[in-house]
Amino acid sequence: MNEKIFVTKSSMPPFEEYIEEIRDLWDSRWLTNMGEKYEQLQAELIRYLKVANLNLLVNGHMSLEVALQALNMRKGEVITTPFTFVSTTHAIVRSGYKPVFCDIDYETYTIDVEKLRSLITNNTVAILPVHVYGNICQVEEIQKVAAEFGLKVIYDAAHAFGEEYKGNGVGTFGDMSCFSFHATKVFHTIEGGAISCNDLELSRIIKQISDFGIVDEDEIDFIGTNAKINEFSAAMGICNLRHIENDIKKRKILYERYCERLKNVNGIKMNCDQAEVKHNYAYCPVIINEKIFGTNRNLIQKQLFKYDIYPRKYFYPLTNELSCYRGKFDLMEKTPVAKYISERVLTLPLYSEMKVTDVDKICDIILKMQEK
Ligand SMILES: *Cc1c(COP(=O)(O)O)cnc(C)c1O
Repeated sequence: MNEKIFVTKSSMPPFEEYIEEIRDLWDSRWLTNMGEKYEQLQAELIRYLKVANLNLLVNGHMSLEVALQALNMRKGEVITTPFTFVSTTHAIVRSGYKPVFCDIDYETYTIDVEKLRSLITNNTVAILPVHVYGNICQVEEIQKVAAEFGLKVIYDAAHAFGEEYKGNGVGTFGDMSCFSFHATKVFHTIEGGAISCNDLELSRIIKQISDFGIVDEDEIDFIGTNAKINEFSAAMGICNLRHIENDIKKRKILYERYCERLKNVNGIKMNCDQAEVKHNYAYCPVIINEKIFGTNRNLIQKQLFKYDIYPRKYFYPLTNELSCYRGKFDLMEKTPVAKYISERVLTLPLYSEMKVTDVDKICDIILKMQEK
């Protein structure tokens, strides 16, 4: 009789709203290749994200690959974080670069800039940090390091949709930022993604690469790929964007309830509260210190499973621990903070349709497991 509670649940507009939105497509028969829906969503997102240029793509992963190709860098090392979804590391390796794993900061779980400096070599060409859980990276310090060593910066902003730092859209930092509009993210187009950048010329190159490298009928300038978003996805984005502010408001209430219930509990560490950040409340990761709390992360997860509640170990394992990379790159022992967090993190369910009573139920189950 219990309704299953997963870590997330895709938000959807009212059925009629979506049907109304796609009606035009039956007249135009323009189903993909940057049609009217693309143009409308692009314009609305440029305003919402407060960015100068935005290219919409088929998904977040291809956004990372296209971004790496668009920068046209010599092959070398890209410094990144192992505490992320596997897509970040795959994009680097599939693009022919060597990932160099930098440890993370204990508070924000984003790249530790002090450690970043020590990893730079003559082969370093770029930095690819992740605003993990929507925690904003140390963008100013990273920019300083990048300028000092002549490195490119691509942010994986898959978790940071709509966030702002000091009033600036999160997509304005670095050379480019890559967003994911996957069905499980705060804002989605079913499958989709985007790259923001400040440089108009770069945006043109991104567009061409994502469309086979086509410049015009007679000219193909790049060995491009097909990473175009389709019009039905763009239409879903247009609808979802109308509801985003309300969704984030609901997420905030739920997130704050989790904090109220869990933040003063010994052995539980909540996500950080960053100053000057407009947050999107995408995730609710908690770190369980088994020695203090008395029970470990895995047992808490198993206990919640019994109640049809399905939190996830985002992000465990670290990407530098995965079997496809084992033995190929640095060992996780070189990223001890990431290892510590990854072994203790549990990402609790959080989505706009959840009820406050669901949050209470989850907290009750967790708190019951605390050793008195
Ligand atoms: C979701 C995600 C991606 C990949 O995005 P898709 O749209 O699923 O391809 C990349 N990086 C991070 C951190 C993600 O969470």
